[in-house]
Amino acid sequence: MNTIKQNLDSIKSTLPEHVTLVAVSKTKPVPDLIEAYEAGQRIFGENKIQEMTEKWEQMPKDIQWHMIGHVQTNKVKFMAPFVSLIHGVDSLKLLQEINKQALKNNRVIDCLLQIYIAEEESKFGLDEKELNQLLTSAEFKELKNIRILGLMGMATFTEDQNQIKKEFTHLKSIFDSIQKLDIVDLKTISMGMSGDYQLAIECGSTMVRIGSSIFGGR
Ligand SMILES: *Cc1c(COP(=O)(O)O)cnc(C)c1O
Repeated sequence: MNTIKQNLDSIKSTLPEHVTLVAVSKTKPVPDLIEAYEAGQRIFGENKIQEMTEKWEQMPKDIQWHMIGHVQTNKVKFMAPFVSLIHGVDSLKLLQEINKQALKNNRVIDCLLQIYIAEEESKFGLDEKELNQLLTSAEFKELKNIRILGLMGMATFTEDQNQIKKEFTHLKSIFDSIQKLDIVDLKTISMGMSGDYQLAIECGSTMVRIGSSIFGGR
């Protein structure tokens, strides 16, 4: 079996320079994260706020913590002091809460808006129309303590590469059309996981979220 460092090194060697690697460490114990940290990794992704907070308390403070899971409004306050990017923002209500908690902590919190691209009921996210409505609303303009850095999406869990490619391409096209509206300056497209990140990069991803290929199966 490869070590975490070997896995990280081999993945990093395949990533183009403009692509950021989020090491998805959910469910993994702190010593595994430390091994990745010692191999140079500084961006970690977690999908539960409580678990992320516990790891943040125990780990070195130069780590950037990304929340990649679905966020419950009532838990935003626990991560507001330290989270560096929230990937799964899918409503104005949630953005307003993040803004409120960011203000309390005297900071601006970076967010990605999650777009629904899969053909699975279980996945979260906005469609293009809802995204447009959110970004052009008066309420959105008032939010000074959040910054929208880009979009995030998850493809359908399938072996069908054409299906996945279609969904990633769809997200990229939404990104491009929002960019043209000139409301927010989008920089980041977070798409791609262990099984599909190479395809995601071909389709325009600038941020990949990789867990099992680094830390092993969960
Ligand atoms: C778990 C998870 C990942 C990483 O999945 P792997 O297949 O282990 O790479 C990426 N994104 C999200 C949103 C996740 O929940």
